[in-house]
Amino acid sequence: MGFATDCIHAGQQPDPTTGAVTVPIYQTSTYVQEGLGRHKGYEYARTHNLTRRTLEKNLAALEGGQDAYAYASGMAAIQAVLTLVKAGQRVVVSDNVYGGTHRLFTRILANYGVEFAFLEASDPEALEARAGRFDLLWIETPTNPLMKICDIEALAGLAHRRGALLVVDNTFMSPFFQRPLALGADVVVHSTTKFLNGHADSVGGVAMVKDPALAEWLRYVQNAAGAILSPFDSWLVLRGTKTLHLRMPRHEENACAVGPFLLNHPKVRRVYWPGFPDHPGHHVHRRQASGFGALISFELGSLEAAQRMLARVRLCSLGESLGGVETLISHPATMTHAGYTQEERDSLGITNGLVRISVGCEDADDLVADLGQALEAV
Ligand code: PLP
Repeated sequence: MGFATDCIHAGQQPDPTTGAVTVPIYQTSTYVQEGLGRHKGYEYARTHNLTRRTLEKNLAALEGGQDAYAYASGMAAIQAVLTLVKAGQRVVVSDNVYGGTHRLFTRILANYGVEFAFLEASDPEALEARAGRFDLLWIETPTNPLMKICDIEALAGLAHRRGALLVVDNTFMSPFFQRPLALGADVVVHSTTKFLNGHADSVGGVAMVKDPALAEWLRYVQNAAGAILSPFDSWLVLRGTKTLHLRMPRHEENACAVGPFLLNHPKVRRVYWPGFPDHPGHHVHRRQASGFGALISFELGSLEAAQRMLARVRLCSLGESLGGVETLISHPATMTHAGYTQEERDSLGITNGLVRISVGCEDADDLVADLGQALEAV
């Protein structure tokens, strides 16, 4: 089936009891069994929940995966995936990933004997020369917040030559624009909180895989560690994916208005968006993705300038997160990337003057007008 049809239908059937066209919220903790060892395949809701399972099948179809497992947040999904490495193993991570990912890796998982190396990953050959031994390669592309592009196919080749796994956090692109499993990635993760849900009313995460053995492990971890996505959140995300194919083109259409507006604005010193032909990695991105997405970062030169602008926005909401129909604007250094030290942010270029916008689905003219009046304060 086509992508739009899959968004609306994949994994879903009318409810067998009532015929309800929308999958119900199976809000139960357990299931009555007919006798010892005799049940309908559902024993306990941490292990089995049909609303969650329906979402997982829907998301697996959208990413082209063999299976998917939904967790209580994007971070819970990331933690589940990191159980694929053991003490003594080494993980290479593309630099300037989401601050929560960096925090989980460096402040928590590093305490369990896993080594993490954060390396510039936009040049696969340079990475191959510097990476050394590793067991798992973790990338975002575009990276958060500097929109660096990593070549998924080349990095899958590099990982596989070392007998390692490639994991791609595909949150920024969604499967509408980019499907890393088809390009050789072993695991794709998403914060479903973002574009997949799309309505800024649920926190969740998902991991998808092609390999049945990896799927079995992630299912096992989901049940054993128990960080499951709730039935209501599963239902919300399922409702969100029905319109993913309608929302994403609109997000991007608006980004195509906002990006050039920012680029041409005298108060804006630099704009990071893969849609610009001179953005480093633009051609790689065009090859591996069908769109440029709606995340744009821009440099205002100082913390004070960023503060002044962010205090003036009216339609754009100052807030963490991204991917909802409403435009969100944020300050990575003090918000999403506060988990990095100042030194780490300086070395990456996540300056105090950097602002990130997640362009929503409003009227583009209204967004441009709001940004224009806010930039007058800079
Ligand atoms: N990955 C990316 C790229 C993110 O931007 C985020 C959150 O902002 C996460 C993962 C974590 O997701 P969650 O907030 O749902 O735990």
